[in-house]
Amino acid sequence: MTKIAIARCGSYVRNEVEGAVRKCLQELGGLQNFVSSGQKVLVKPNLLAAEPPERGVDTHPEVVRAVLLELLALGLKPLVGDSPGVGSLARVAQKAGITEICDELGVPLGNFNQEIEVKAADGKILKSFPLVEEITEVDAVINLPRIKTHGLTRLTGAVKNLFGCVAGLRKGEMHFRLQHADVFQEMLIDLALTIKPVLTIVDGVMAMEGNGPRNGNLRPMGLIMAGENPFAVDATIARLIGLSPSAVPLLASAMKRGISGLNATEIELRGEQLEEFIIADFQVPPASTRISFRVPEFVTNFFRHYVSPYPVIKANCRQCGICLQACPAKVITKGQESMTIDDRQCLRCYCCQEFCPHDAIELSTPFLGRFL
Ligand code: SF4
Ligand code: SF4
Repeated sequence: MTKIAIARCGSYVRNEVEGAVRKCLQELGGLQNFVSSGQKVLVKPNLLAAEPPERGVDTHPEVVRAVLLELLALGLKPLVGDSPGVGSLARVAQKAGITEICDELGVPLGNFNQEIEVKAADGKILKSFPLVEEITEVDAVINLPRIKTHGLTRLTGAVKNLFGCVAGLRKGEMHFRLQHADVFQEMLIDLALTIKPVLTIVDGVMAMEGNGPRNGNLRPMGLIMAGENPFAVDATIARLIGLSPSAVPLLASAMKRGISGLNATEIELRGEQLEEFIIADFQVPPASTRISFRVPEFVTNFFRHYVSPYPVIKANCRQCGICLQACPAKVITKGQESMTIDDRQCLRCYCCQEFCPHDAIELSTPFLGRFL
């Protein structure tokens, strides 16, 4: 049995967040169950893009602050960092309110600009990962995702958040190398098993539904959640947003691999009742590819082009060029008056939609995809 703790938290008011984080840790037997005094700990929030806290794109600074306070009180040496897909950590952290928190508490921000090849723990897809150097310099990683939807993985929570430990542009390279959605998600499982965070604490105060992870709508969920097993945490998030874990491709793959903690019977819930927080009509994107990658190439290509949602650039595009930089396949071009996607070459990785700062890319499901 793995334990998941849930604490009610209706707002980002400082005392309330601190109380909820503390409650979760108490329900799990205390922070000392996961880390020891004097250890160096990497605190890994979701710092996707340079956006202010009220946009709900990044892990809220009050959640990061509450966790740092607990770590400092136990005599740990925390370090905060993430490797954003676009922009530097310094810029994203500044805008997201994380730098201010770190300065207040005297906690350093990582550099996250040197990479090191780390052997995969259970490498089904990759035998090693190009990770940020800080991963090898700390004793433990504490994962701080935020509950959001995602075009490729349907939800981004504990497991997907760890992709930010892959060094800078290597993330785009991985999308290009691992073009099948199923393969990419198996890689994310490999990565989580390699990084093996000792604890995940989830910002579920305001969740993001719809066109996440950057341009969706915020929906109050009112909780902080914590657990040791990131797969169990994501399975619980899936249930909170009205999905069976098996409807989340990454979790379905994890089940097939025999990873524990995905079935409700394997999870001991502590604290508040899960049922009180479930949002049954939470808007979640459809699964991107609903076939196994162990089929002929032409079949996956067919599904990719005629079943999987495809990115569409909307009229409010400002031609900023960020999607062009983010596209690992380099299939976006900038014309005189508009941006164009070469649909035949598009990988359906949705990096463009993830990083567009102006909500100008939406995912559209092909006619056939609506019936499968
Ligand atoms: S689609 Fe978005 S990211 Fe791409 S150029 Fe337009 S506004 Fe910029
Ligand atoms: S156009 Fe968008 S979805 Fe297609 S490959 Fe480029 S970033 Fe990925």
